[in-house]
Amino acid sequence: KPVLLWLRRDLRLSDHPALTAAVQTGAPIIPVFIRDPLVDAMGRAPKWRLERALSHLQGNLEAVGSALIQRSGDALEELQKLVRETGAGAVYWSRDYTPASIKRDTRVKAALKDAGVEARSFKGFLLFEPPSVQTQQGSYYKVYSPFWRAVRNIHVEAILPRLAKLPAPDAWPVSEKLTDWGLGKAMNRGAAVIANHTAVGEQAAQDKLAAFLTNAVEGYKADRDFMAKPATSGLSEYLTYGEISARQIWHAGRRAMEEGASGAEHFLKELVWREFSYHLAYHTPHLLDRNWKDGWDDFPWGGEDAPHVKSWKMGRTGVPLVDAAMREMYITGKMHNRARMIAASYLTKHLMVDWKVGLNWFADCLTDWDPAANALGWQWVAGCGPDAAPFFRIFNPETQCAKFDPDGTYIHRWIAEGQPNPGATALSYFDAIPRGWGLCADGAYPDPVVGLKEGRERALQAYHATRG
Ligand code: FAD
Repeated sequence: KPVLLWLRRDLRLSDHPALTAAVQTGAPIIPVFIRDPLVDAMGRAPKWRLERALSHLQGNLEAVGSALIQRSGDALEELQKLVRETGAGAVYWSRDYTPASIKRDTRVKAALKDAGVEARSFKGFLLFEPPSVQTQQGSYYKVYSPFWRAVRNIHVEAILPRLAKLPAPDAWPVSEKLTDWGLGKAMNRGAAVIANHTAVGEQAAQDKLAAFLTNAVEGYKADRDFMAKPATSGLSEYLTYGEISARQIWHAGRRAMEEGASGAEHFLKELVWREFSYHLAYHTPHLLDRNWKDGWDDFPWGGEDAPHVKSWKMGRTGVPLVDAAMREMYITGKMHNRARMIAASYLTKHLMVDWKVGLNWFADCLTDWDPAANALGWQWVAGCGPDAAPFFRIFNPETQCAKFDPDGTYIHRWIAEGQPNPGATALSYFDAIPRGWGLCADGAYPDPVVGLKEGRERALQAYHATRG
């Protein structure tokens, strides 16, 4: 009886516990991806990136004698249909930890078991599963540093090898065509620009990791905040789709640490922020869509239609560092971590706009969109999140520029207007954005929509008025 391997955010063949367990049964394996409502709810850039990840995975599966069966609809119904069509006796998958995934998977597991089908989920997305990390009082962690201290010496299992051949069934069930799904369609012409900055798949992820270990891990701690430097790993989008496992990165980082690379421990600490974001999303699901701390619901943030939200989204606030950050996201699908903090601080403080407006825009534009990391990042900056920076600590884009982009390289890389010879990357913004925005490269750079001092004072006043 075949095993259905239900793939979701684990689009790889190496270090894949669910896949390895499926192979160990000796049964034929049928890899399946279901375009369910959770996939349909994704933003434009993540969907486009997912389409590319699936297409790549298809090729990788074919190379090991297998295939990827694609279906769309309710996950449980589609799995039940596939069980009937193939006579499968088991469904295996890797656990995901967002509240919506947990709800779906719990229902799927119970119904399959009721029907006499073996339903097993495996670790594979995280290093430390949320329920397994507890404070001494048996609770969860709300602060990062003790979380890090609790997990840093936990034994992480060894990496599982990549499988050279997967046992195939005698006949494959019918599959929908990925190209018919049109997952990337809504990206329109922006896709062609982002594609220049996106290498997809397992091998690309391994190459990124190797390049980071050779070139950047040593200086990671000192250089990671400099927005123009290639000083970070660039692995976030691969982790998002599971094209690399956190475990592969963890062990590589540990090895680098043991070999004396001075930035390696700091790198592992950042990797563990991802774990922390899932720890919190699991234990406090409102992290993803409501103010995490009590007492913030009456904060006078503006909504989607507040002044200058559109300018912020377009990268046209007239504050070069903020605009560079927003354009980097438009052009590449990613944004430097420090730039994310600065763009988020500007929106929630200088413009006094609700962090959820920014969260949703990032969820639409980032190819490394991750529901937990995105929410933790936004709530952290806005001041209402776990272990957050206090609201009154407002990033000043000019000071940040002086510190972390002292020669303006980052700004010039992304903003064309006003430059005598703008580079191709800065110019490509005009190809990436919707035509409806009506912008062209020889237009003028906008004046600031809000003065930095004025915006800061207004934010502080609102904070003191409502929060004392
Ligand atoms: P590296 O510095 O090389 O770090 C290695 C890995 O550690 C990353 O790939 C990532 O998986 C993890 N990591 C690093 N920093 C963080 C962090 N602060 N929180 C959680 N995980 C982290 N990250 C996402 O993956 N998806 C998002 O949607 C996302 N949205 C964010 C929104 C805001 C407002 C902020 C402030 C941060 C957000 N981050 C998000 C976290 C962080 O900015 C990115 O993970 C990082 O920039 C990715 O670049 P890198 O892979 O080169 O990171």
